[in-house]
Amino acid sequence: LQPDVPAKCLFAKDNLTNNPHPVLVRNIEQKIYPDISHCIGNTPLVKLNHIPKSMGIKCDVLVKCEFLNPGGSIKDRMAHYMIQNAENKGLLKPGSILIEPTSGNTGIALGMISAIKGYECILVFPGKSSNEKEDILKALGCKVVRCSDKIPYNQPGGIFCRPMEIHKETPNSAILHQFWNPCNPLSHYYGTAMEIFEQCDGKVDMVAIGVGTGGTATGIGRRFKEMMPECLIVGVDPIGSAIAEPASINETDVIYFEIEGIGHGFHPPTLDKKMIDFWLKVGDKESLNMARRMHKEEGILCGGSSGTILCGALEAAKSLKEGQKCVVILPDGVGNYLTKFLSDYWMEVRGFIPCTNTFNHWWWDY
Ligand code: PMP
Repeated sequence: LQPDVPAKCLFAKDNLTNNPHPVLVRNIEQKIYPDISHCIGNTPLVKLNHIPKSMGIKCDVLVKCEFLNPGGSIKDRMAHYMIQNAENKGLLKPGSILIEPTSGNTGIALGMISAIKGYECILVFPGKSSNEKEDILKALGCKVVRCSDKIPYNQPGGIFCRPMEIHKETPNSAILHQFWNPCNPLSHYYGTAMEIFEQCDGKVDMVAIGVGTGGTATGIGRRFKEMMPECLIVGVDPIGSAIAEPASINETDVIYFEIEGIGHGFHPPTLDKKMIDFWLKVGDKESLNMARRMHKEEGILCGGSSGTILCGALEAAKSLKEGQKCVVILPDGVGNYLTKFLSDYWMEVRGFIPCTNTFNHWWWDY
């Protein structure tokens, strides 16, 4: 939103579509916020000036800076919405214990809101997620349970089973089930999608989105299919993940990818694949180098999945003309990956950048 456009426009728009739910957008007219959860949403949409030009792209490429949410990611929106909804239904009371499987950002968002509201959090975390995310969760007072990536997600001790096991042993606990909870896509249907619609004056030609739970893609996709059916929704999936369609584009020898928060070997239940017009696949090397280009060339401190999504977006945006708009969701920021892709050494040992031999680390440092 421009500063001269009052935030109540967003509410007015939603009243027109008979939204029965509260709209979780920040009131930008407010000077002092009652607590940090009131600062969720209303993130800036920023034009890229250098990278698209260097690739001969004619349209405007606009990035939605979700890393500027107070918990550092897009997941603040759905965590806030899921908690509000659970409170309204009486599922959460002061002293409740929240349990959730998360690659980290949902956990950080739940932990942040729980710190305000006095809930406890136990977060089940895959082996692959960064230590930075774990440290942030601990700073928020959450308990972190790491699962081995070797245990299949649906087997005892796996990322989806472990929360149920903990829930059974923990009185007064609740799982909000981000992979199944309709509040996840609804927070984007009523929030993120409407913000983009307003920020682009109702004219968007393409939106590029990555899929973790599928909440962002399903929520924005459904709203835009209703309001601007001609807008193309592009799903961007890491090489090594099996979410994209047709299934043949997922065929690869890659069995592990470094990008966090997007891509799975299963279909996430929250994802409505009808919302995606077409899919593109992007590898780790390309993704992480693109995220690093964003830092250096645009001054935008995005995370790794943002690099994946931007690579897909730039490929798809080659078909757009001058004056058209391609919106790219940047789900989180670089702070989650300081010891990972921000480190030259980490990039070098994986062959993602050429070896400079300027570092004298022993291999066991990493
Ligand atoms: N990027 C990152 C870094 C994430 O943490 C997530 C959430 N897992 C996503 C993208 C994907 O968002 P969604 O769950 O809405 O598909």
